Amino acid sequence: APRVFSGIQPSGGLTLGNYLGALKRFVQAQDAGTETIYCMVDMHAITVWQDPAKLRRATRELAAGFIASGIDPVRSILFNQSQVPAHAELAWIFNCVARMGWLKRMTQFKDKAGKNAENASVGLFAYPTLMAADIMAYHATHVPVGEDQKQHLELTRDIAAKFNHDFGVEFFPIVEPVIEGAATRVMSLRDGTKKMSKSDPSDMSRINLTDDADTIAQKLRKARTDPEALPSDLDGLAERPEARNLVNIYAALADITPDAVLAQYGGQGFGAFKPALADLAVDKLSPISAEMTRLMQDVAEIDRILGDGAARAHAIAQPILEQCYDIVGLIRTR
Ligand code: ATP
Ligand code: MG
Repeated sequence: APRVFSGIQPSGGLTLGNYLGALKRFVQAQDAGTETIYCMVDMHAITVWQDPAKLRRATRELAAGFIASGIDPVRSILFNQSQVPAHAELAWIFNCVARMGWLKRMTQFKDKAGKNAENASVGLFAYPTLMAADIMAYHATHVPVGEDQKQHLELTRDIAAKFNHDFGVEFFPIVEPVIEGAATRVMSLRDGTKKMSKSDPSDMSRINLTDDADTIAQKLRKARTDPEALPSDLDGLAERPEARNLVNIYAALADITPDAVLAQYGGQGFGAFKPALADLAVDKLSPISAEMTRLMQDVAEIDRILGDGAARAHAIAQPILEQCYDIVGLIRTR
């Protein structure tokens, strides 16, 4: 049976990119009746230094964001990674399976480590092996993610295949990346060639789920664009990354195709399109934001949900980890 797993880092507040590229699709998988496991990957977040109090808050706010977006913690398993030790334990096994050369090719490490890679944490370098462990600890078969995670999922497949080959078993499944829809790569509002990220130093580069209506309108008004009117078909967007980004965002928010957006707005300038997009974004995001605020008033309830989810996740992951240790030849006598 298909089993969906995915995660989000509590490395800042949720963005429109996280919502369209991840959360919205997580809810669709859940509502389709698939078994769904969603994780707040706090151990990934600490691959770059996090203030402990802010990390705790961001983790709870992320849980609130999942629930406010439509994740039901009864139908889905919702938990934070560090409460289930199988993730870190399996990651160690995978550190011994993955090759240095494989990890050195990862573009996310290059982007995040920047110029001074010698000073990046070992954890940031090994991030993809922990991500492979997150998925494989549940024998997950499908992983909905944004386009930026495609390379890490390919690595997950390589690690699973090498483990199976090295030990002569058919133990870990080869996962299918699920990268679908108009908004699998929402771009920065300031630079149409860079993806929108919750950790980008510029708050103007992104729309946060918790931004109020005025802030959303202002950020879109100031979003970088070119002076041309919108074209009437997709070919006209080929060389216009900023325009394409706004059209894709509109399409994803409205659940229509980018073609349908251009059928409506082709020939109009950004003076007309940006306010329409702002209205649509506020319409879709403000109920989520209001619900997050409400949920954050009861932190004890959020912690209870995470604890309950972690117990359910542990019950699935622990037997898989035990079997994996046995395959590798590690003795377990208690
Ligand atoms: P950080 O900057 O700390 O890496 P992030 O915004 O990239 O934060 P992640 O927690 O790394 O968020 O990713 C969570 C999920 O959101 C992943 O599935 C990722 O592919 C998706 N995602 C992140 N940014 C975007 C984006 N701009 N467009 C679409 N999906 C995105
Ligand atoms: Mg990221």
